[in-house]
Amino acid sequence: MSASRSFRRRLRAHAEETSRRSTSRGDTQPHLIDVVDGMELWIGADGVGRVLPPIPDDAVPALKDALVARRQATLSGTCPACGARAVVHGSKKLRDLKPGEIARGTMAHTDWCVASDAGIADLVERLGGAS
Ligand SMILES: [Zn+2]
Repeated sequence: MSASRSFRRRLRAHAEETSRRSTSRGDTQPHLIDVVDGMELWIGADGVGRVLPPIPDDAVPALKDALVARRQATLSGTCPACGARAVVHGSKKLRDLKPGEIARGTMAHTDWCVASDAGIADLVERLGGAS
């Protein structure tokens, strides 16, 4: 079994379990539920799981702020810096996903957005990654 398949299996198991728990507890805030292969598994207020990279403790403050904005964008579906909205690949919408179903999505940040790939890469280039 490849690492990717193993990761997906663990992710599905978490998603199914957490979907049931989130629904029964009425969670309203995103929360971290596990770290799998160095990636964080978060559950959003909508009950949908997201896999996110960790934010390094030693990141320079401006980079940490950008990564926090990126995390908020991913968890909420709307970027707090530029207002971009998440789009799920394929014909489904987030609300149509079944427990344990895995989908990919993207967010088209504006060119100037600090939470975009280019914005984060620019910060790393100008300031470095660690403080
Ligand atoms: Zn943005």
